[in-house]
Amino acid sequence: MIYPPWDEQTVNDLNSYQTAGSFAPFFCQTKGCKSILRATERGFVCPEGCGYTQPWAHEWMPYVRPCKEAREVQRINELLLTEGYGRVIAELHRLYREQYHRNYRAQDVKPKRGRPRKRKK
Ligand SMILES: [Zn+2]
Repeated sequence: MIYPPWDEQTVNDLNSYQTAGSFAPFFCQTKGCKSILRATERGFVCPEGCGYTQPWAHEWMPYVRPCKEAREVQRINELLLTEGYGRVIAELHRLYREQYHRNYRAQDVKPKRGRPRKRKK
């Protein structure tokens, strides 16, 4: 376990962990609140202002880096908040096309039509 006070780097790393979606974040334990806690210099606090605090974290938490998919989700969430649905949908289409072309290249051959042939034994 690590306990506050936490320096700026640790606070940033813990908040990155909390929003990355790679692992389950810490939630507010106040009944009916369930907000994702925010790290501060003095420990985790509930961003809804309900007063819940948590003065510890696991030692490994600041070292978790979000995976690529989690970073994409984070980016799309930000887009949604700043630019709205239209922009998000355009972005999802772009990601889908990118993924499609990546998979297509990975196969390196055109997908054959019809049933696959049986292999000789
Ligand atoms: Zn709360």
